[in-house]
Amino acid sequence: MATLSEFQLIRQFFAPLGAARTDVVLGVGDDAALVDHGGTELLALCVDTLTAGVHFPTDAPADAVGYKALAVNLSDLAAMGAQPAWALLALSLPAVDADWLAGFKSGFQRLAEAHGVALIGGDTTRGALAASVTLLGAVERGAALRRDGARPGDRIYVSGTLGDAAAGLRLWQSGQRSATGGAAELIARLHYPTPRLALGRALRGLASAAIDISDGLAADLGHILERSGVGATVEIERLPLSQALVSACGRSEASALALAGGDDYELCFTVSPAQEAALTEAVSALGSAVTAIGTIDAAPGLRLIDAAGRQVRPPAQGGYQHFGEAP
Ligand code: ADP
Ligand code: MG
Repeated sequence: MATLSEFQLIRQFFAPLGAARTDVVLGVGDDAALVDHGGTELLALCVDTLTAGVHFPTDAPADAVGYKALAVNLSDLAAMGAQPAWALLALSLPAVDADWLAGFKSGFQRLAEAHGVALIGGDTTRGALAASVTLLGAVERGAALRRDGARPGDRIYVSGTLGDAAAGLRLWQSGQRSATGGAAELIARLHYPTPRLALGRALRGLASAAIDISDGLAADLGHILERSGVGATVEIERLPLSQALVSACGRSEASALALAGGDDYELCFTVSPAQEAALTEAVSALGSAVTAIGTIDAAPGLRLIDAAGRQVRPPAQGGYQHFGEAP
């Protein structure tokens, strides 16, 4: 039997699974689930696991592991426009190492305090090093940013710069441990991604669709396209690249990493032409950098074009998947 991709596997075995409850507003298939618990707002829930050697280098600083375990979940709630509140932490440890745990705690604590998140429970077991965080938050009814609302003619935007974390991983894997300057910036983007919560909140009522970029722009924009039943044209030259990335690997490789490299945790979102003026106002009030990179089309599929409008072939690696090939 052919290997199932990560997404085929989820579709085949887990969506749907369990009882059909009428209080589930949004189930499997978005950055977080939405549940109607009878309050004025909906609950937003997500869980993400970081496994040593897969999601972080085995010798990553403990502080970075604690930080990132929460950051990747905050990023999923940011992509929903939700406000985070409560976390559960399931930690699997090969042995008790008090120094490592103190580091993990301080990284987690820093980000939890910054975003008003309380750790309210969890589980501690012996096993291969892994940290799984379940994060709960809230979003006003009808205001959540979903993956399925993009329409032809909408402009596609991304926050921040792309490709930095993938370059940071390469530098780390090549043995850089006391980097300075641009190399240090790229490695910091890998270990300490910035979840875009304020931007996600500001996009409520403005963006037609949103996702966070965890597996690379091409793959994650692909999820918006699939869920919305649309296609897109992205202009390669418009991809926001940091100076540090371009200096480290040149413009062409930087663009490839921006498209296919994972771990940036920026937001990718779509905005209808009627909302673009309001978007400009909202992001300038926030001081966030967002860049228009293309347009949603009716024809399915992702098309990449260069500055002259010529179609460019997508990078061979379509984004990170844990199992099998691209769906
Ligand atoms: P993200 O990258 O935003 O964390 P994923 O790509 O990991 O999202 O997952 C895609 C969707 O599938 C999400 O809605 C997630 O909740 C759901 N999902 C992933 N794994 C499982 C599983 N084992 N059981 C049920 N739902 C799952
Ligand atoms: Mg996500």
